[in-house]
Amino acid sequence: MELRIGVIGIGAMGRDHVDRINNRVNGAKVSAISDINVEVATAYAKEIGATFYEDAEALIAADEIDGIVVTSWDPTHEGYVLEAIKHDKYVFCEKPLALEASGCTNIVNAETAKQKRLVQVGFMRRYDRGYEEMKRELDTGVLGEPLLLHCTHRNETVDSKYDTPMAVENTAVHEVDALRWLLQEDFVSAQVILPKKQTQYTHPKLHDPQLILLQTESGVCIDLEVFVNCQFGYDINCKVVCEKGEIGLTNPTYFNVKTEQKDYTRVPSDWKERFISAYDKELQLWVDGIKHDEITGPSAWDGYMASVTTNACSESRDNGYKVEIKFDEKPSLYQ
Ligand code: NAP
Repeated sequence: MELRIGVIGIGAMGRDHVDRINNRVNGAKVSAISDINVEVATAYAKEIGATFYEDAEALIAADEIDGIVVTSWDPTHEGYVLEAIKHDKYVFCEKPLALEASGCTNIVNAETAKQKRLVQVGFMRRYDRGYEEMKRELDTGVLGEPLLLHCTHRNETVDSKYDTPMAVENTAVHEVDALRWLLQEDFVSAQVILPKKQTQYTHPKLHDPQLILLQTESGVCIDLEVFVNCQFGYDINCKVVCEKGEIGLTNPTYFNVKTEQKDYTRVPSDWKERFISAYDKELQLWVDGIKHDEITGPSAWDGYMASVTTNACSESRDNGYKVEIKFDEKPSLYQ
């Protein structure tokens, strides 16, 4: 049976997921969409052969919808996910699950009350081949214990809606989850440094670049550069320095160019290109999970742990001190 999926928010990410569900993921089709831009969304619904719901809550409640994808703007995620849980619907929510950890706690509480996992969070880096292979290698122990991580999250440019807090909440949240998963450890402290020297390509509401420092329970230290107007492409790096060696991501590449005494490869233009296979894999896993009535991807608890950490980063950025990270006890549903 083909699952009928409803997508809420059909901007860049929403449309990307619609395309992948309809054309690359097996076993599901997008049959309904909702978005606050009625005219644009009505036309798009027609184009893809889906029903347009002006009221997103009606879409969530509809009997003919088996699963919900939430790709609307960050502050709206919590409400839609809670509504889906209320109706016992499976829901895939783009990151962040909620901007505040308290919002994630509301979701965790609603889900644990049902004693069933209904939520998967869009932390797709766990399905990127580079991260997967790095984790496999680290888990063998051949390189010894991880000691330090040097990471970068660079975007070519961002639009004028993107402001200083988003560097943490919207961007670094990916590393926060991926590194916690990679090291299998939680974070104990966070600090954000806003360098005095900024790029000329930023705007008044955005401090760019920013430097984030995290420390794990066992004492692994991480530095993460978030630089969202780097001008040269979408550049994700993660280098793990271990006791007996070092391991790092490379940008996926299929060719290199040699010309005029230079030898170079391409840098991806954006997240869609860089992580295309990881997005395909996470949504296939979600669809398969619905069919087997068992969701195994990143959980509401992972969403909560990410928001606790990004909230600590924001507190540090706003107050200039290092923040100790404290979190609730993990409910048995997520053990
Ligand atoms: P976007 O292009 O601005 O699209 C969001 C869409 O949702 C817009 O059409 C927006 O309308 C609409 N919307 C806003 N509030 C809504 C509401 N209450 N109900 C229904 N629709 C609403 O943003 P995007 O880049 O696609 O990002 C969407 C989400 O995906 C964000 O949460 C973002 O963090 C996430 N994302 C994840 C990744 C990843 O790598 N996993 C990458 C990119 C984005 P307006 O434009 O009128 O506000």
